[in-house]
Amino acid sequence: MLGKLTRWLRILGHDVKYSTKLDDTKLIDIAKKEKRILLTRDFELYKQATAKGIEASYLEGQTEQEKLTELAGRFDIDLDVDMAMSRCPKCNTRVKRVPKERITSKVEPNTFVHYDEFWECPKCGQIYWQGAHWTRIRKTLENVRDSKRK
Ligand SMILES: [Zn+2]
Repeated sequence: MLGKLTRWLRILGHDVKYSTKLDDTKLIDIAKKEKRILLTRDFELYKQATAKGIEASYLEGQTEQEKLTELAGRFDIDLDVDMAMSRCPKCNTRVKRVPKERITSKVEPNTFVHYDEFWECPKCGQIYWQGAHWTRIRKTLENVRDSKRK
């Protein structure tokens, strides 16, 4: 249920594990072993986790912006994207800057012509660039910053 939020947090540089398959016991177990903060929309899971001394956050927001605002209010989350810190939204691996020449065959010619900075995920091979959708990403983060101030 928090798949989109996971992607946002990874872009912002956070190490986030996400699963829809694991049961509550297993999730709590992983959070404990790996000292992770458990994020959930499931109030029962939240209660169980905190009862076991796990740091957990129960998220009520509907939109990604609302969820990010909740999180940014509770934790000190830097709302600027620093690509040097960014993780692959798909697989959580830190992305690496790649020279443009190396991705010639990996992106559409149109993209290649319009952008100069590219990043690659060393694990899944996904190529990233700050394309048109970045206007939306920046706007959302700006809105989160604004609502945090209120
Ligand atoms: Zn990846």
